[in-house]
Amino acid sequence: MNQGCDHLNTVNQVTPQTLGCAECLASGSWWVHLRLCRSCGHVGCCDDSPNRHATAHFHATRHAIIEGYDPPEGWGWCFVDEVEVELPDQTPKREPTPRYIDAYGRIIPSAIKGLKPPLT
Ligand SMILES: [Zn+2]
Ligand SMILES: [Zn+2]
Ligand SMILES: [Zn+2]
Repeated sequence: MNQGCDHLNTVNQVTPQTLGCAECLASGSWWVHLRLCRSCGHVGCCDDSPNRHATAHFHATRHAIIEGYDPPEGWGWCFVDEVEVELPDQTPKREPTPRYIDAYGRIIPSAIKGLKPPLT
């Protein structure tokens, strides 16, 4: 069910543009989870991350639909309607994806060592 969302026609088969969050990789920051833009393949960090680049990408581009990309969960989310949507397929992962959070959701100190503190 995709109640209240008519943006599924904007969903494309995309190739993830980067191995991790594009902006965080560029700035030397870190993230919690990754979201994939299903319009253009931009990889951005989730709202639990310090820099929230997936949401920033939506505000900059109005690309509506993201996929839960890392961990690869395959669900879709529409930013415009703020509803979960069913995607036609799940995007294959590009590896190796840098990870800064362990399976319990804790920051891995050695992984973020030397990275810039988040911009708050
Ligand atoms: Zn929508
Ligand atoms: Zn980011
Ligand atoms: Zn996009």
